Amino acid sequence: MTPKLELHLHLEGAAPPRFIAALAKEKHIDIGGIFTPEGAYRFEGFAEFVKVYEAACTTLTRPEDYQRLTRAVLEAQAEQGVIYTEIFLSPDFCGGRDRGAWREYLQAMRETADVLQHEAGITMKAIATCIRHFGPDKARQTALCAAETAGDFLVGFGIAGAETMGKLKDFSWSFDAAKEAGLKPTVHAGEWKGPSEVREAIHDLGALRIGHGFRAIEDLALVDELAETGIVLECCPGSNVALGIYPSFRKHPIGELYHRGVKVTVSTDDPPFFHTTLTREYEMLHEAFDWDDGVFAALNRTALDAAFCDKDTKDRIGKLLEAEHV
Ligand SMILES: [Zn+2]
Repeated sequence: MTPKLELHLHLEGAAPPRFIAALAKEKHIDIGGIFTPEGAYRFEGFAEFVKVYEAACTTLTRPEDYQRLTRAVLEAQAEQGVIYTEIFLSPDFCGGRDRGAWREYLQAMRETADVLQHEAGITMKAIATCIRHFGPDKARQTALCAAETAGDFLVGFGIAGAETMGKLKDFSWSFDAAKEAGLKPTVHAGEWKGPSEVREAIHDLGALRIGHGFRAIEDLALVDELAETGIVLECCPGSNVALGIYPSFRKHPIGELYHRGVKVTVSTDDPPFFHTTLTREYEMLHEAFDWDDGVFAALNRTALDAAFCDKDTKDRIGKLLEAEHV
């Protein structure tokens, strides 16, 4: 299987519904309403998706839960051929932004990641995210959690959640604190709002990568700026199609952005919610744009260049990619 890199995946959003249902049963938590009779997550549109997502998260209450979740998610990614992944973690969900609790959660996930690196050949790094619709005050606490634990495992800081709420510049204190601690910034922008949001992510928060960002296509001057500066878009087309932003992969701007020289990568965002896998994303992109193994190898190379990890890890992953393409 083609070795893949994935840069945009939310740990809780990657939780298999069966995993969450079992945990809810164990803890006698009633969240039955979030599942379809077939056992998939049930929601329609972004607002409901966020509600179901947060309801699923109520089952995750202890570091051990996150340990098990990390294992389940990394095993699923390894099955898709993923050899390197950067996963969004939320101090909001991991200990309610308490710094001591966050350390315990993070340590639990890190230990599991180390085990899975040996067992399944997948390397994980983490990006702590604040949640936009929780507001800038909570984001400050999240940033302090992240800044204190920056290192070779926690390598980035991001913002996710409802893009339509608040202004990105209200989060600049949090991003400054995270960047000062050595964390690299990525910002969800240009998914639900247009190109101006992508500009703000770059100019107000110093984003090196943009989560989604595809609506840059509505402003060709911005597309040129992205191509020139090499800012990388973490595209998740299956997520955007599942949430109804585009009717099909063929209509998704990732093809045109790539054609215009923007550095794009491919990820799954919250795969079980969107009924997708990274392998399916590649297949759909192949069908939509006739992308072949050469294109996917180039996208993985872009992802490696844009990865937030240390140089030794990049060199090691780079060798694994090269070994596949000689
Ligand atoms: Zn996302």
